[in-house]
Amino acid sequence: MNQHVVRDPSELIPVVSYARTSEDSRQRDGHGVRYQLRINERIAHEQGCIVVAAYSDNGRSASKEGVLRPGFDRLVADLARGHIDGGQRVDGVVCVADDRLYRRAEDLSRFLAALTSRPGRIHVDPQGVRDPYSQEGLLQAVRSLEVAVTETRVRSRRVSDWHWARAAEGVPHSGPRPFGRQQDRITLHPAEAKLVEQAISDRIAGKAVRAIAADWCDLGVTGTRGGRANAQTVTQIITAPRVCGYRANRGELLLIPDTGQPVRGQWEPIVVPDQWHAVCATFSPGSLYLHRGSGAPRLTGQKRMAPRHLATGFLRCGAQRHDGTLCRGSLCAQKGRSKKSPYVYSCRSCGRCSISGPLADEALERLVFSEDRGAAKPPQLLRDRWRSGEMGLEEKRKVVASVVTRCIVRPGVKGAPSWDHSRVEPLPERPRQAGWRYAEPTGP
Ligand SMILES: [Zn+2]
Repeated sequence: MNQHVVRDPSELIPVVSYARTSEDSRQRDGHGVRYQLRINERIAHEQGCIVVAAYSDNGRSASKEGVLRPGFDRLVADLARGHIDGGQRVDGVVCVADDRLYRRAEDLSRFLAALTSRPGRIHVDPQGVRDPYSQEGLLQAVRSLEVAVTETRVRSRRVSDWHWARAAEGVPHSGPRPFGRQQDRITLHPAEAKLVEQAISDRIAGKAVRAIAADWCDLGVTGTRGGRANAQTVTQIITAPRVCGYRANRGELLLIPDTGQPVRGQWEPIVVPDQWHAVCATFSPGSLYLHRGSGAPRLTGQKRMAPRHLATGFLRCGAQRHDGTLCRGSLCAQKGRSKKSPYVYSCRSCGRCSISGPLADEALERLVFSEDRGAAKPPQLLRDRWRSGEMGLEEKRKVVASVVTRCIVRPGVKGAPSWDHSRVEPLPERPRQAGWRYAEPTGP
């Protein structure tokens, strides 16, 4: 006989098809998702259903909190309102496996609530048609969830065991290279390691960590992960056990089980353990690397030892703190958003003061050449060279340094003219110069 049954399309049950691949899937090109959707179509056809819409999330985890799944969200929304865009009614879902839909209890409850928000809905999978309203249907869903949650737990456990085993061997952390090390994470980065060593001894001698961060900022030390030096990143760097060769894992110093001695990393230490203990003792326990872990932003990547902007290092934050005193945090150059201000200087301590880069540089230039600075006026020749564009940035910065030590920048006021040079005021912390200090370069 082998008769081909042709069903009346109006008798077919309209369902939405859903597919997902996880972020670690090798098929992030969408191949995995297409494949699942094709299977869904076949299953739907076998069960007398028709796919009226297909949604997918490619390379999206369903077990991690906070991962957006737009496809899943649309599925839930369609089920809740009863139809897809265009008005086609929806009577169920087809999906190759439950863990494509949910791996977290929150998602299961959202999905089930939406699916059963109207009577007569079905859930189709390779085993057939499920009744989501029955106790058996519900239990099946919960069992799938349990399996998925256990799997997730085992997987992350496996990863952390791997990290632990590496750590116990003294193998450096994976991930971005730590500040002070070369790419191999073992060899010292000479310039950075020197900064770290200096910072540790300065800190032990009582220097404020914010001042150390400001120094680094003035030197133009930056990192690829957006790491501009601030008090927190510097604290993390100088209190990390790796500076003295110790190895930590998940916020704990690793000890050799037999001896109780710290595990030594395979890398070169920057200071001796006594110095590391001493520098840690200058912080409250809560701010140490061992408390905060390596999750804090790290300074890595290339660093530029030479400042690239005129006012870098000269500007201090004029925003008022709660106690009425000025923040005085160092203003660092960063990328700006407009054509007029392709870079801006902003405070890394409080974040409440920033000024257009070109504006601040212009203001500084005006201060240097201002008529009322009396004796501290640069000679005419210098002015001419500056204005003709003959003078390089490094020399200009020397000229600035001989006129002003630091400038306070008042935070901008909403509604006030934005190009206001008076926001930059020199700090009268140095006695007025008796004469011109900057020695002009001799020779051609
Ligand atoms: Zn500030």
